[in-house]
Amino acid sequence: MKTVDLIVPCHNEEEVLPEFVKVTNEVTSTLPSYSFRYIFINDGSKDNTLLTMIKLAKEFNNVKYISFSRNFGKEAAMYAGLEHSDADYVIVMDADLQHPPAMFPQMIEGIEEGNDCCALYRAKQTGESKLRQLVSKIFFSFQNNISDVKMPDGAVDYRIMSRKMVDAIMELSEVQRFSKGIFCWVGFKTKWIEYKNVER
Ligand code: UDP
Ligand code: MG
Repeated sequence: MKTVDLIVPCHNEEEVLPEFVKVTNEVTSTLPSYSFRYIFINDGSKDNTLLTMIKLAKEFNNVKYISFSRNFGKEAAMYAGLEHSDADYVIVMDADLQHPPAMFPQMIEGIEEGNDCCALYRAKQTGESKLRQLVSKIFFSFQNNISDVKMPDGAVDYRIMSRKMVDAIMELSEVQRFSKGIFCWVGFKTKWIEYKNVER
């Protein structure tokens, strides 16, 4: 059976975490040929995120957690999670359910088709302000102009990667990382799929 680690950086997420596990379990239970494991990273939360993780780890034997003594930022949390993962596939996602776990089947399909990575980008938001849309557009077009790393407008940190790709990323030990860029830069074959963002 193939193993899948879910790397979830968490900063003050005590309220949503139990719901996150509940909703995600509903999806993973529809994928019985994969064995899922949660790797939560408590990134110096000020609320009871750590206590919530401890409780979840007691309740579910596939829940693991790492806890930082202070806030190091989402990128550092993601990398700590990746360092602790040994699964065949690794999914990186947010804790706040803005990255819908319902996308797992499509993401796994994408990687089973022979891609190294299957990454998500947000569909155009009808509710998003014109200014926000413009800022996002300028950012992605600037990024795509100055860099060999190409990514669609709306790319987010929600992706599944092969073991081969995760190992390559871990070899790159830069202090300051722009994760979306680095995940593309290693040159692995990425399939992009669109999803509808969920408001927090
Ligand atoms: N996060 C983190 N450390 C931080 C800030 C955020 O680990 O210093 C986590 C947060 O708990 C969430 C994810 O990173 O799982 C995305 O954060 P947020 O929802 O605040 O970002 P946005 O939705 O604005 O991209
Ligand atoms: Mg969010």
